[in-house]
Amino acid sequence: METVFIDGSRGEGGGQILRTSLALACVTGKPLHIENIRAARRNPGLAKQHLSCARAARQISGGRCKGDTLGSKVLDFEPGPVRSGDYHFDIGSAGSASLVIQTVLPALFLADKPSRVTVAGGTHNPMAPPYDFLSETFLPAVSTAGFSARGGLVKHGFYPAGGGRLTFDVHQWERNSSAPIDICEPDKQIQIHARIYTARLPVQIARRQENLLLKSDLDIEDLEHIEVADSDGPGNCVMIRICGENRTTVFTAFGERGKPSKKVVGEVGDSAGHFLDSGAAVDRYLADQLLIYMAIADAGEYTTNELSKHLATNIEVIKEFLPVEFTAHEYGKHYKVSCRPG
Ligand code: ATP
Repeated sequence: METVFIDGSRGEGGGQILRTSLALACVTGKPLHIENIRAARRNPGLAKQHLSCARAARQISGGRCKGDTLGSKVLDFEPGPVRSGDYHFDIGSAGSASLVIQTVLPALFLADKPSRVTVAGGTHNPMAPPYDFLSETFLPAVSTAGFSARGGLVKHGFYPAGGGRLTFDVHQWERNSSAPIDICEPDKQIQIHARIYTARLPVQIARRQENLLLKSDLDIEDLEHIEVADSDGPGNCVMIRICGENRTTVFTAFGERGKPSKKVVGEVGDSAGHFLDSGAAVDRYLADQLLIYMAIADAGEYTTNELSKHLATNIEVIKEFLPVEFTAHEYGKHYKVSCRPG
């Protein structure tokens, strides 16, 4: 099969280009040559999370990798046939376990039998889907198209200590008995819930964030505070969960040393508010994460409140591997993104 050449500096220029390429190399069996990996980042090349993604892709496909070393900006990956199994990957840092799961998930959905994937690393990291997003927003969304998996959080891991653990049971894709992704209508009967995580931090932080949430413009139904006992290090995040009849969308902002709670709560409130105001059904993160599943199914559509750079770049990368077309049309405050055979 012909090698797919990917320039990792295109568009968004980050780790997503690598992960989408690895995932689709496994799905299609096409060899991958990628260079300029994460060229747009302060610390370009493969960080531990990206290296784990490459090794995980190699393992599930019995493939071969060249250039899979820390800091490498070039990688050659020759996948073999994807095999189901009981896989364990350890990132060895607080790198996001969710992003390693997302790399192997598409191919494991297409394997001959169910699989179990366990990843040790960060479970609640800035710039990555927190576990709650995967279990409450992402998995239910892909399951509407027959991609069914169950996630479990074994141990929390916050950046920078890491040490968390996620386990996912992945079933085979029910290709024939499922309709394409169609998430276009905004949900009905919306309720807004807030969730605050703190680990190894004074309880006053959560109290302050609760008060700020209650004073925000959002009509928050209830607040829950989860004080994490099993974390190796400190951590704090504030989530707004928009729960409707058909789906839940989780928005997250992370606290860090020196960042005022007002800023944390402001960030997550703004993201949720913008989404609610737009009349879209899918938030900006789910929007980039669904594309690969629509491409595998050759079809699907959703509405979203933002066409992010991640989304545009992901579309470009997907089209290098699969014969699909994506279109995006603006409708007032939101966009409809559709996929069809190319
Ligand atoms: P890099 O440092 O190169 O950016 P990276 O590998 O961490 O490395 P990105 O390329 O920025 O990552 O990709 C981040 C991914 O995480 C995207 O798919 C995005 O949708 C997802 N993501 C980021 N923040 C959130 C969030 N708060 N909720 C859900 N998903 C998120």
